[in-house]
Order: sequence, then structure tokens, then C-alpha cells
Amino acid sequence: MKIGLVNVDSHNFPNLCLMKLSSYHKKRGDLVEFWDKDKSYDRVYVSKIFTESILPIVENATEVIIGGSGVDLVNELPEEIEHETPDYSLFPQYDFALGMLTRGCPRVNHGFCITPQKDGCISRKVADLKEFWTGQKKIILLDQNLLACKDRETLLDQLIGSSAEVEFNGGLDVRYMNEKVIEKVRRIKIKDHHFAWDDPKEDLQPYFKRLVEAKIKSPDRIGVYVLTNFWSTIEEDLYRVYELRKLGLMPFIMIYDKQKFVDSRGKWIKGVEERFTKEELRHFKTVQHMQRWCNNRKLITISPDFEGYEPYKKWKQQGKPVPQRKGA
Ligand code: SF4
Repeated sequence: MKIGLVNVDSHNFPNLCLMKLSSYHKKRGDLVEFWDKDKSYDRVYVSKIFTESILPIVENATEVIIGGSGVDLVNELPEEIEHETPDYSLFPQYDFALGMLTRGCPRVNHGFCITPQKDGCISRKVADLKEFWTGQKKIILLDQNLLACKDRETLLDQLIGSSAEVEFNGGLDVRYMNEKVIEKVRRIKIKDHHFAWDDPKEDLQPYFKRLVEAKIKSPDRIGVYVLTNFWSTIEEDLYRVYELRKLGLMPFIMIYDKQKFVDSRGKWIKGVEERFTKEELRHFKTVQHMQRWCNNRKLITISPDFEGYEPYKKWKQQGKPVPQRKGA
């Protein structure tokens, strides 16, 4: 068979599904290549990650199979393909191993995240490291919540055994960083440690304190994502930021739905005043200031009080201007 692969929208990262499909077909003696509109194929696989991406028109194949999270949240690779070792030769510009040891996450209240819906609300082991690691010096894990898995210690031991540098793309869940886990994580080469404190109603301070006391890494080298503009007040956002700073950790503000308010340069999107109330726009503007202040390591260190952040102070003195509805 002649197989064509279309990588619709994962341009700065290798596409894991396509790499597995490629291995599967090559093992069967099929010819596999990236799709060319001027050739003809028996089957073309189209992988689409983001909903908004435009699908190409494929007219030169007997069969076209379209999949990925950009299509729906239920499509998945057949079991025998899912467990193929990725064909890394498809993306020779990258030299790391890529995969998932677990799938799923128990934080079902995190309504901003598709994981529990897509992969289930129990973190479960889906692979051993040797399934996708072929000796590379670096491993990137796409697991959503590896530490929530009951097999966490076995999996951490596999990572220790690799001696490779490990990047936990989805971060680590601080609630599971108990003594045993900390000792194992300490033995893994991790360049960037990052965690999250998304739920303002959940007090994670004691967990972060335990993490800092374990001296796994200097706290100012540990990033903690703080979700804003979803379910928290400004006071709840600042509470999390200040508590983390007290421990020496580096909070990193994430703004939910930011792209619905401003463009990539941070300027208001045209017509935003028609879609959001004045209060919502003011709330957004405040967290945008907070993000500029907090995510700048130098700024937050020199000026640890958000109220003292000059651009924010100025905006408040001006009466907190935001775009106004016509006729308002
Ligand atoms: S902990 Fe992470 S993966 Fe789990 S639901 Fe929350 S954001 Fe999603």
C-alpha cells in the first residue's frame, strides 16, 4: 500500500499519531511518506489537533482517514497502532523521545480542561517507557497527570533508569509530591520543574511548602501556573501569587480565554465591548496587568506588591478605562 500522511497543524512539534501510523505501516511493508497533492495514494491519514484549523482537500486517495483532537474528543488510534514505537525518522529535526506513560486525570472540577472528558477521570498507565524511548538523551512526556496514577512509582523508576533528561509537558501535580515521590523525582534529570495552582478554592499552600522544604531545586527555579479569568476573583488570584512568592516560588499567570479579549500584541480585539460586559472587561484588564507584572521575574522581584505596579496604578487613576458599547 502507498500511504500519505498530512500533518495539518502541529508545525513546531512532532506529531505522535503520525509517527505511530508510520511505524505500523512500514512494518507491514507499506510505503509511507508525507502527502503530496500531485501523487496518488491508497490511503491518506490526516491529523488535525486544533478545532479551528482548515482541513486540506484530499482527492488523490482511495481512502482518507481524518483524526485528532481537532475533529472530536472520541476518535483514537486502534490499540495495535497506539502501542507502536513512534517512527522518529519522520521528524529528523527533533532528537527527543515523545509519548505518554499514562492517560487521564481525576480533577473533574477543572472545567477549563478537556482531559477528564477526553481521556477519563482516572490517571492510568498506558505504556512502559521502553515502548517509545529508544535511547534518546531527552524524553518529552505528554502525560496529563502522571503522579495521579497508582503506578507512579514504577513509572518514575523507569524514568530514573533512562538517565535521560525528562520534560513533563503537563507539569507535576503537587498534591502527590509526598516523601517517596519526592525522592524519586529528585533522581530524575528535570530541567524545568513546573506545577499549577488552578483552583482558588483549594488551599495548596501546605503542599507547596512541603515541596520547597524538600529542596528538590531552588524555589526560584520552580514555576507554578496560576489560572485566572475563569473562576476566581482578583483577591483569590493575588492570594495564590503572594503565597507562592512567600515560599520563594515563581508564579506564572495564565489567563483563560485571553485570545477572546486581546490580539497577540495584547491590544483589545475589535468589537470586544459587544461580547463582554464592562465589569468583565475591567476584570480582564486587571489580570492582564497582573500577568505583565507577575510573569516578569525581574519586575515581581523588585516590586513585590501588585498595587505598586506603575501601569496598573496609572490605569486605576484614569478610572479603569475599557472599550465602551456604542451608545453606553
Ligand atoms: S490537573 Fe491538569 S490535566 Fe488534570 S484536569 Fe486539571 S488542567 Fe487538566
